Amino acid sequence: MCEFCTKHGEGKKWYENISNYTEEVFHQVNSEKNLKGFLNNLYHSLSVETRMAERWKKRLPRIYNLIAYPLVTKHLKKTHFGQIVPVEDIENILNNFNSVIRLPCICRKVTIKKEKRYCFGIGMDLTPVYKSVPDFSDFDSLTAVEAKEFIRHLDTEGMTHSVWTFNTPFIGAICNCDRDCMAYRFQLKMRTGKAMWKAEYVAAIDPLKCDGCRECIKKCYFGAVSYDRRNSKCIVNLMNCYGCGICRTACKNHAITLLDRTSVTQVANLW
Ligand code: SF4
Ligand code: SF4
Ligand code: SF4
Repeated sequence: MCEFCTKHGEGKKWYENISNYTEEVFHQVNSEKNLKGFLNNLYHSLSVETRMAERWKKRLPRIYNLIAYPLVTKHLKKTHFGQIVPVEDIENILNNFNSVIRLPCICRKVTIKKEKRYCFGIGMDLTPVYKSVPDFSDFDSLTAVEAKEFIRHLDTEGMTHSVWTFNTPFIGAICNCDRDCMAYRFQLKMRTGKAMWKAEYVAAIDPLKCDGCRECIKKCYFGAVSYDRRNSKCIVNLMNCYGCGICRTACKNHAITLLDRTSVTQVANLW
């Protein structure tokens, strides 16, 4: 289990600990005023501050990597941090709630300038806060069953799922993302900080079932699958795998499974 499970999981994975979605935990780490301030600034933060960080990184890469990167990462871990979660675990989370709020996706507003609603507010009722923030006020409500159906559909379309904190360990959102996600761009393209931890899992391909069709390579945003010409099979690069499980949806032979990350020595401590 990752450091967040150790600190906030009470013996479970931290996102399975339902107290992390409650009003009690929210008020331990938040105030509504601070959350409103954070959400009101989020568009600016994603569109301007991330670009500024990217420019500094290009200008002074050594200093940025040595000083700014760890500081930014530390700040994000405390304030707004995510972890990749495969669809089965997302469904288990949703089993604890009757309804969820589907929110406008702020990242895609920045990256593709389009209105999409792939972001779900879960747990504590934060609708009074969302109503007061222009970027989030246009939300709708779904039952947990509808949300699960929608997320399954997004899974087959190749979107990774993740949980997000609003001041850790309070979990306020489930996100469904592709390469238009700012966390993905910030972390894997710009390499300006770490906002998103890998899942508690890692993928494995059964060579006896794999026929080398390479469909899984197309699905993986993290560049973690490659084709091995020696035996005409695909293999997972464990160091790159985020454990999202999305590659499984491409495999007609059911050759890909998720293993518990801690059971795979090579990546047991790689989050
Ligand atoms: S994390 Fe994903 S779903 Fe959430 S706002 Fe960003 S792109 Fe949208
Ligand atoms: S999709 Fe399945 S069968 Fe095709 S290369 Fe990937 S693991 Fe092998
Ligand atoms: S190889 Fe890993 S990171 Fe890539 S899609 Fe599969 S589970 Fe996700």
